Amino acid sequence: MINNADKAMYLAKKNGRNRYQFFKAKRDAARIQRTDIESQLHGALKDDAIFLDFQPKIDIATGYLCSGEALVRWRNPTLGLMLPSAFMPIAEASGSIVPIGHWVLRETCRRLQAWREKDVEIVPMAVNMSAIELRDKTLPARIADILTETGLEARFLELEVTESDLMHQSDASVSTLVALSDLGIHIAIDDFGAGSVSLKHLKRFPIDTLNIAPCFVHDMLENAEDASFINALIHLGQNLALRVIAKGVETQAQLDHLKSLGCDGAQGFLFSKPLSATDFLALLGHDPPSWQQPRMAPGITVGSPCSRGG
Ligand code: C2E
Ligand code: MG
Repeated sequence: MINNADKAMYLAKKNGRNRYQFFKAKRDAARIQRTDIESQLHGALKDDAIFLDFQPKIDIATGYLCSGEALVRWRNPTLGLMLPSAFMPIAEASGSIVPIGHWVLRETCRRLQAWREKDVEIVPMAVNMSAIELRDKTLPARIADILTETGLEARFLELEVTESDLMHQSDASVSTLVALSDLGIHIAIDDFGAGSVSLKHLKRFPIDTLNIAPCFVHDMLENAEDASFINALIHLGQNLALRVIAKGVETQAQLDHLKSLGCDGAQGFLFSKPLSATDFLALLGHDPPSWQQPRMAPGITVGSPCSRGG
């Protein structure tokens, strides 16, 4: 009881002192689970419990698979399969994000190059970057080392940085992005439109692609404001000679509308959920016999390059 009273007291102090706070068993359980996840995360890479899924992106004009996105997952020994939202914020807070992010980059490059060496026609693959990774001045050198070690050409790697992370970056991070772009790596802004974009800042970054946030795609057919917003974002991107990809495309009607607006690419459950490495490889054209066709929209062809950017 004294222990729990202490916890309530510390929370009261943390929340501004001169106040009272009840102890809540539920909150304590969440804190314990967070601490457990934090300590399990340290061993997760060593235990081969972290792995990647890959989600295709489609060139809207041609219907071809044009690139992909690597998405991290964790097979947690007690909690089962965990998606990034359940553990990446903890990884960021505890510092595990740096080794995990490094592993994601290396594993993505290693896999792509291994597929290429099997004569598979590979497509560029995007890797998500957190703000913490971006602040690391050694990032360009580390990525250059990974490319040398794996043998992958830089043009097959794309880094996705969220708009909100990008807008809060210092000048040092701008130099990091410039150094990465100079290596030949593509840079994309993820969740574009959902953060506090400053067009003045946008000019400072060496960007190749704008990924429109799924919330606008989701509501664009019901909400006239979202439809106008998407239209404006597509034109903004294209006038700046950037590739524009709509994320979270789930229906044919959304795809038709995006096509009529001239959007370059799309990603979403309409085409495919994130796939295992084996299924993504099959999508690239080399089927192991047991592979099952993932759900693809009618008319989607795979294995050919993008009409722009790719
Ligand atoms: P994101 O970069 O926006 O990635 C796309 C997310 O949207 C994925 O969720 C994907 O499963 C989901 N998604 C794709 N199409 C659809 C759709 O049509 N409808 C809906 N409702 N969802 C769709 P996931 O895998 O849970 O990833 C969530 C976020 O976690 C990612 O969002 C990304 O910000 C972050 N993340 C994933 N992998 C990494 C990583 O290796 N490093 C870092 N730093 N962040 C990562
Ligand atoms: Mg992303």
